[in-house]
Amino acid sequence: MSTFTLLESKRQNKYFYDQKAKNTQWCHPMLYYILKLHDKGMDVDQWYRDLNNGPVKIEGFGTTSKKEIAYYYRKYILLRDNGFFSGIDTEHYLSGRLSADQIKSSLANTRQVTFEVVDFCNLECAYCTYGKFYNNYDRREKNKLSTAPAKTFLNYLLDLMNSPLNDSHGRPFYIGFYGGEPLLNFPFIREIVDYVRQLKAVHNRFCFNMTTNGLLLERYMDFLEEHDFLLLISLDGNEYNNSYRVFKDGTPAYQQILENVNALKSKYPEYFESRVNFNAVFHNRNSVSDIHRYFKTHFNKVPTISELNPSGISDSMREEFRKTYANINENLFQVEDYSLVEKDMFIRLPNIKGVSTFLDQCSGFVFNDYNELLASGNEGKEEVRVPTGTCMPFSRKVFITVKGKILPCEQIGYQYGLGAVDENNVELDFEKIARTYNRYYDKLKNQCCTCANAEACFQCIFYLNPEKPNPKCLGLFNKEELSQFLATQVSYLEENPHTYTKIMKEVRIE
Ligand code: SF4
Ligand code: SF4
Repeated sequence: MSTFTLLESKRQNKYFYDQKAKNTQWCHPMLYYILKLHDKGMDVDQWYRDLNNGPVKIEGFGTTSKKEIAYYYRKYILLRDNGFFSGIDTEHYLSGRLSADQIKSSLANTRQVTFEVVDFCNLECAYCTYGKFYNNYDRREKNKLSTAPAKTFLNYLLDLMNSPLNDSHGRPFYIGFYGGEPLLNFPFIREIVDYVRQLKAVHNRFCFNMTTNGLLLERYMDFLEEHDFLLLISLDGNEYNNSYRVFKDGTPAYQQILENVNALKSKYPEYFESRVNFNAVFHNRNSVSDIHRYFKTHFNKVPTISELNPSGISDSMREEFRKTYANINENLFQVEDYSLVEKDMFIRLPNIKGVSTFLDQCSGFVFNDYNELLASGNEGKEEVRVPTGTCMPFSRKVFITVKGKILPCEQIGYQYGLGAVDENNVELDFEKIARTYNRYYDKLKNQCCTCANAEACFQCIFYLNPEKPNPKCLGLFNKEELSQFLATQVSYLEENPHTYTKIMKEVRIE
């Protein structure tokens, strides 16, 4: 498969992106023309030899001479001799396999363990991922996670974290509390925090975080501040914006949440400023402008914005989900004070995320570490990788459900549990996990081999129903679609060149 893509920006500048070299370059129209011939499968050397010495007419370029063409032909040869435009054996490239050792090492270096403290809540938000729209979570049975399995898992993890497999020295390690509403099981949180405080991690330091709906904040804020919790409060904006967040009897929760948040802000202003963040769920009752204005005015904060999760929707709820769902990107086109919103929200906006992804994956100027930088000069190396953009299991986090299932994160269906923990044992069979992932990869590999976006893919396999016999990826890109995606990013950078420096300085892609 050819690994380069031609693209033209809105200003009609021409570029090529070479997937193998992970590099995008501006090019002269003549070089662009030569690359088009190459892309069509023409023998460019023969074409050049056959040119006569008189005037030469080139489509879309006008009349030129062989002498002038020679300069760009030599450039083409130079690039080609240095590994550009060479094509890639995708079958081989995407033939990577996960091994048990890799997964174990990933767990030894994980960044966070999150406990689903309870499976119930004091609210009943219309779009909750454990609510009426979805069918991919375990039944909610008013369970609380007890501290014994949580401690068993922490002990197991600590042995791995303190072993030679850990090479993430100095990195903070987060213990997360999630629900339902985690503050409904405060004794669990207090006991686990006390327990963690006396654990000795050789390489990492423990920190705490929590996602909360804010209703019990006033009652527990002294504890949260004392232990420096990183807090993420769910709030969708003003009273109307927030009107899907309601109590079980349907009455709005907005005023109570606001009172609690204001109490926290006035008692602990410094903590509030440095450790408290908001997440607004995006839907048909708010907009990017509403959200930006609300949080800026009330709390001088810039929230994260998340769309409703479109996977795991029950068939009977599709229509209602469709009415509730709204797309952030589409809404951005209608934002009046866009430059102000972009200045504040920056990487939280999907279009800026797209540009960042482009710079990270396709510009050739971003290296995650020195190993990657040194390896980049290693032409001809036989690299392989696994298909899709799924993270290495546990590389980001471990999620423990209220029933003791072990998952790679809280965003995927509970049917994909990779192990279990109870008060005495952790059951994690790394060989079996590797087999499961490799089986899923085998089902997607053929699609990924034909996908122009295989190199920069972010598609998580768990959103594609990997247990089905023939899962389908709707994100498969053909070359034309990749060209359009790249052209959008390059056009944005041409029009907003300052964004390049800002992304390079401020954004770290994980
Ligand atoms: S959604 Fe998929 S890729 Fe993302 S953290 Fe979870 S398992 Fe990994
Ligand atoms: S977008 Fe889909 S088809 Fe393309 S590489 Fe990713 S998982 Fe494979």
